[in-house]
Amino acid sequence: MHWMSRNVLPEEGVELHRLVSELHPICRSITGDGVRESLRQLQREVPLELHEVPTGTRVFDWEVPREWNIRDAFIKDSQGRRVVDFRQSSLHVVSYSVPVHRRMKRTELLPHLHTLPDRPDWIPYRTSYYEETWGFCLTHRQLEAMPDGEYEVCIDSTLAAGHLTYGELTLPGETENEVLISSHCCHPALCNDNLSGMVIGAALARHLSETPRRRYSYRFLWLPGTIGPITWLAQHEDMLPRIRHGLVLTCVGDPGRFTYKRSRRGDAEIDRAVKHVLGGSGHDCEIQDFTPQGYDERQYCSPGINLPVGCFMRTPNGRYPEYHTSADDLTLVTPEALTGTLRQLLRVVAVLEGNHRFLNLNPKGEPQLGRRGLYRLMGGTTGERHEEALLWVLNFSDGTHSLLDIAERSQLRFEVIEHAALALIRSGLLRAIEP
Ligand code: ZN
Repeated sequence: MHWMSRNVLPEEGVELHRLVSELHPICRSITGDGVRESLRQLQREVPLELHEVPTGTRVFDWEVPREWNIRDAFIKDSQGRRVVDFRQSSLHVVSYSVPVHRRMKRTELLPHLHTLPDRPDWIPYRTSYYEETWGFCLTHRQLEAMPDGEYEVCIDSTLAAGHLTYGELTLPGETENEVLISSHCCHPALCNDNLSGMVIGAALARHLSETPRRRYSYRFLWLPGTIGPITWLAQHEDMLPRIRHGLVLTCVGDPGRFTYKRSRRGDAEIDRAVKHVLGGSGHDCEIQDFTPQGYDERQYCSPGINLPVGCFMRTPNGRYPEYHTSADDLTLVTPEALTGTLRQLLRVVAVLEGNHRFLNLNPKGEPQLGRRGLYRLMGGTTGERHEEALLWVLNFSDGTHSLLDIAERSQLRFEVIEHAALALIRSGLLRAIEP
């Protein structure tokens, strides 16, 4: 019943950062080979499966779109030099651009060019999934260096019937009750928004797969944003009641403080578990209420689905200047931040796994703890708070309060409460109640 994972070593963050750097050059979008290649790279970390859903499949109010693939794209000047080159950055092309190959004047080209004049060295990230158009994203300096004249414009892309690809890994536990961990995998060369969530999901899956006992089953999903969870939810409606807790992981690789956005329910066990862990972590953190903006929690928390799924972040989308630009790069995401995120998530899992209810078997008057050697049993760990924890656990283990209830009420850390419960079980004063 006591769930323990192995420690997260600093080397792990270094390893995850290396993985981010390997995924960075791949051109991802909501469909296509970039997603497949990225998921195959993740398969070297964990044995996730790739699923393919055909174009045109009806999924709730949506339809799986055509598959987009791109081989090359450029803008060449009159001397034939590539002044904008997709091979330099996958951000240079507006995602889902239709193919184009023609010569055109700068003035004709301009409406198709996107820059950030106030951040002249950064390339913006733009998409056009549901409107047939094409475009390039470039630094404002690149644009300023393009004189009037004629340019050769080429986007060698295809938009055709194919599939939507997503990755899934399930780790069976002692019960069919599930914890869902979801991250989006549709952004191109962006590290914090996208890649950090993808690799942290994989790292968490690896840790959980290496722990001998799990109360819950775990389901990890790597999906294209919005259409991905809509597709998955539409095709798995029958098993949604199994999902007891869930987290969307995104923007988890920067050194900013932790941010947690509650599920739509607001008081789900996952909401309380994350708040408890982050609140007691000694780090600064922010807890936000649910809003229908943001990431894929919008789908998991749509009113007809309403799963207990929150969104776990460090610095949220739109709250850092590098967001959705080429500056969301390998320097924004750090090995230390990745390590720190993984540690907090494992603590959250430990709370979910250990949050049982118990019954005090000697509820009339306080039992004599000294006689049972309980004060001694708790020795070695700093005394006083543990004695307090014993009293809290005994008093509120009436079958209705869980360990998290007791931890919240006593303002003691979950680990301290759980440790006390384990000692009380060993001395015969406490018995677990089957859920
Ligand atoms: Zn994004």
